[in-house]
Amino acid sequence: MSSEISKVRSDGNLYPHQVDDSKLKEELDTLSYQVLRQAATERAFTGEYTDTETIGVYKCKACNAQLFRSETKFHSGCGWPSFYAPTDNKAIEYLEDRSLFPRVRTEVRCANCGSHLGHVFEGEGFDTPTDQRYCINSVAMILEEK
Ligand SMILES: [Zn+2]
Repeated sequence: MSSEISKVRSDGNLYPHQVDDSKLKEELDTLSYQVLRQAATERAFTGEYTDTETIGVYKCKACNAQLFRSETKFHSGCGWPSFYAPTDNKAIEYLEDRSLFPRVRTEVRCANCGSHLGHVFEGEGFDTPTDQRYCINSVAMILEEK
């Protein structure tokens, strides 16, 4: 499929973890695969982590990299799990997304494997330390409870 995610990062380097797409497709349910590897979006208010307050670390469902911590999760009301910061800025790759042009969004991918996670929005006025909202698909992540 033409929409599948490239093996190469926006900086020209290969992702440290190379996803075997056919293997992953067998391992995951259809929606998880479509979100991670074809940049689909789960329907709002349907994801299992939208309102979860469980303490733990959210990991990439494709490669297990640590992406977000429950401490930075907040209730935004948008219908998807929302975080104000990643575990580490290096954990995330940011890409300009013009698929809804003229609206330009910032796509968020796993920096380790390139899988699509969601988008990040800024300046919405949420009472968080960064005023950013990482709007992430539940199906792109696995919550490892502490
Ligand atoms: Zn990953």
